[in-house]
Order: sequence, then structure tokens, then C-alpha cells
Amino acid sequence: MSLDAITDRLRAAEAAAGRAPGSVCLIAVSKRQPPERVERALRAGHRVFGENYVQEAQAKWPDWQAEYPGVSVHLVGPLQTNKARAAVELFDAIHSLDRPKLARTLARLAQERGACPELFVQVNTGDEPQKAGIPPHEADAFIAECRALDLPLAGLMCLPPAGADSAPHFTELAAIAARNGLTGLSMGMSDDFEAAVAHGATHVRVGSAIFGARD
Ligand SMILES: *Cc1c(COP(=O)(O)O)cnc(C)c1O
Repeated sequence: MSLDAITDRLRAAEAAAGRAPGSVCLIAVSKRQPPERVERALRAGHRVFGENYVQEAQAKWPDWQAEYPGVSVHLVGPLQTNKARAAVELFDAIHSLDRPKLARTLARLAQERGACPELFVQVNTGDEPQKAGIPPHEADAFIAECRALDLPLAGLMCLPPAGADSAPHFTELAAIAARNGLTGLSMGMSDDFEAAVAHGATHVRVGSAIFGARD
């Protein structure tokens, strides 16, 4: 696979779903990829990337951002509260807002800086005990809490259980977003991004299908 092939498949999925071409944001998840693979995507003109770890992203992205104007980097992995300051300084979007303490910390930093990355609330649609995310039955209350803190909510994110059919999880995430007036849906990865687009994804997070297996 490659960036071109995935972009073609994404355009086809948009067309099949009656969505405008280019309306779904392709986040190329570059965590733990050799730098030459990421540079190939940068040279090809791709500008939206995803990372899972604050420290890894801090080490990689400032130089590339200086060299390639217009790059945006999204945090798609879990965020520890003690890394929140570094995260808001580095990332254009955070897809893992998943608990009240983190919401309060981000709100304080946003006030201090007068700016905040776009935020996606992560919902644990599979109710998996080991996985991050707000349980679905607490999502409405948490979204209201974030809004009371004036946080800029772009939408919702989910990471369906491994090996399960993702479709019901995408449907549930879209329903929670709709009833809360949120338009962004960060869902779909290498194995299921086309299904996610069919269910209304606005952002797909694709790593290995673009770059190959990770280190
Ligand atoms: C690693 C990761 C991805 C990309 O996964 P692939 O299977 O390589 O496409 C997407 N979202 C999150 C949250 C991830 O951690």
C-alpha cells in the first residue's frame, strides 16, 4: 500500500457515500515509522499526520514543520495530564480527550495561551475496561462539561474493539455526535476506514496501510 493507493480508496469511499471529494481528512498516522517513509509522504505533498506519543512527536515534528509549511500534527494516542502543556504547544488537534481532569487542565492551558488545539472526545464505544475513553452512557454529560469549560470541541473519536465488526461502533459514535450537535467524527483506521466513511467519518486515521508495518 501507499499514500496514493489509500488516497484513491478514500476518494472512492467518499463517492460511494455521496460525500464531496476531499471532504474526509486523511490523517497519516506516522507513529514509530522510519523517518524516510514520513518524508516521502511530506515530499508528495501530504500535510496531515497523526502521532500517539508526545515525546516521540516532539522529537520529530518541529524540524519537519519548519521545512514543510502547512503541516498539521494530530495527537491520536492517550494524553497524560502532565504532558498536556507540551501537547497543546505541539499539536493542532487532540483526539483523546477522555476524562474530566484532562478537560480541566486543557481549559486552564487554553485560557493561559488564548488558543487551544481542536478537541475530539474519545468514546469507549466497546465499554472495554482496559481502553481509554468516556463510557457511552457518560458521553452526553462529559460533552456538556467540556462545553461549560469553553473547550473547542470538534467532535468525537472511537477505537472499536480489535477483531470486532466496527460498523456498530461507528453507528453509535455518529448517534452520540448527532444528538449533541457535534459534526466531527474521527473514526476508521487501516482495516476499516472505508466503512467509517460510509458511516459519516470526517477524519480517518490510517497508519500501516500507508507506511507499512511499524518498528
Ligand atoms: C496506531 C493508531 C492508528 C493507526 O492504526 P493503523 O492500523 O496502523 O492504521 C489510528 N488510531 C489510533 C488511535 C492509533 O493508535
